[in-house]
Amino acid sequence: MDPYSHTTHNFTSHQDFTSFSTLAASGSSGSPAVSTSTPSRYENQKRRDWNTFCQYLKNHHPPLFLSQCSGANVLEFLCYLDQFGKTKVHTLICPFYGHPNPPAPCPCPLRQAWGSLDALIGRLRAAYEENGGAPEVNPFGSRAVKLYLREIRDVQSKARGVSYEKKKRKR
Ligand SMILES: [Zn+2]
Repeated sequence: MDPYSHTTHNFTSHQDFTSFSTLAASGSSGSPAVSTSTPSRYENQKRRDWNTFCQYLKNHHPPLFLSQCSGANVLEFLCYLDQFGKTKVHTLICPFYGHPNPPAPCPCPLRQAWGSLDALIGRLRAAYEENGGAPEVNPFGSRAVKLYLREIRDVQSKARGVSYEKKKRKR
């Protein structure tokens, strides 16, 4: 279905996710009981991401319920996460635009890397359905979110001078 949902972990910047986890942990009361029988890193990450998202909904003004959550709200969430990003995305006027290894610092903003967002959406989409959401209305699988991710991929790959191309490119 979606070729990126399971294959993007190699692009994941683990740094970015440290901040997600911290957010989730600070938001919920008591840290999750991470026993010795931890399911898997993916499952743990998915649960933390889900908690972060639910926390985001709770703090939203006006408050949002999961049932009324749309693709637009998911995009809002992704933009909100950008403030915790650690990936430099050069603007068009930056001399290092398209430069994979800039020789000097620049004031361009830090964002969530596309690979991180893409993997995050994959986990949240699964979590939504595991938590009782209907696949037909899954906001994480919405067209708006897919288009947004595609755009972020293009923008970041150009700005950072890196290629996110998959070898498998059909059509
Ligand atoms: Zn720059």
